[in-house]
Amino acid sequence: KEKTFAMIKPDGVYGNYSDKIKAIIMDSGFSIKRELRVQLDEDTVRSFYAEHSSKSFFPSLVKYMTSGPILVMILEKDNAVADWRKLIGPTDAEKAKVTHPQSIRAMCGLNTEKNCVHGSHSIQSASREMSFFF
Ligand code: ATP
Repeated sequence: KEKTFAMIKPDGVYGNYSDKIKAIIMDSGFSIKRELRVQLDEDTVRSFYAEHSSKSFFPSLVKYMTSGPILVMILEKDNAVADWRKLIGPTDAEKAKVTHPQSIRAMCGLNTEKNCVHGSHSIQSASREMSFFF
């Protein structure tokens, strides 16, 4: 079965959404293979999100991602990468509330930055992100 990497970002953990999100994950047919609560430091965020390092929002992203603990997970199911991306919804959580009201970001995200969860974009990025944390 396929594996993907999932993260509950600081706003999701702080807002007490972790248990609710984990229930949605399991109800959607994923099994949670690994789970770790961590507090990221700035260098770790810069390295994890290196592909965005030249973007104007990068300093803000680093600040947000170090603002509190996160929960990282390895999820497993057939088609896990695409199905988890579908379940979390679009990057902009505000738009998600209108266009994807059933998505996780619609439930607990705030805007384009504070969007509560992360999911790997591809099998390759899933593999990188899983070995980054586990
Ligand atoms: P993720 O990779 O976290 O699942 P994503 O794939 O939907 O999110 P990316 O384009 O990879 O979005 O951006 C990574 C993260 O950077 C976003 O989840 C968000 O927290 C932040 N981000 C992206 N675009 C913006 C923006 N325009 N302004 C502020 N923050 C942003």
